[in-house]
Amino acid sequence: MVSPKKLANGNPLCWHCLKRLVYKRGGGFTYREVVDGGGTVHRVHHDCERRVLGDGVRPIASRPGPSP
Ligand SMILES: [Zn+2]
Repeated sequence: MVSPKKLANGNPLCWHCLKRLVYKRGGGFTYREVVDGGGTVHRVHHDCERRVLGDGVRPIASRPGPSP
């Protein structure tokens, strides 16, 4: 079981495969965000995104990053 607290503490996991997201050189994590039928946002690997889409799960349009 993964506690929500652990997720909030900077150990982001992929919603699909439950492995850690990829740490990006220079800071931050690289991931895709999707939203399920209930409006909950989940983070997934880029490669996992297409596997979770459908069945009420939609991609979130890419947003401008905090900094280039
Ligand atoms: Zn994944």
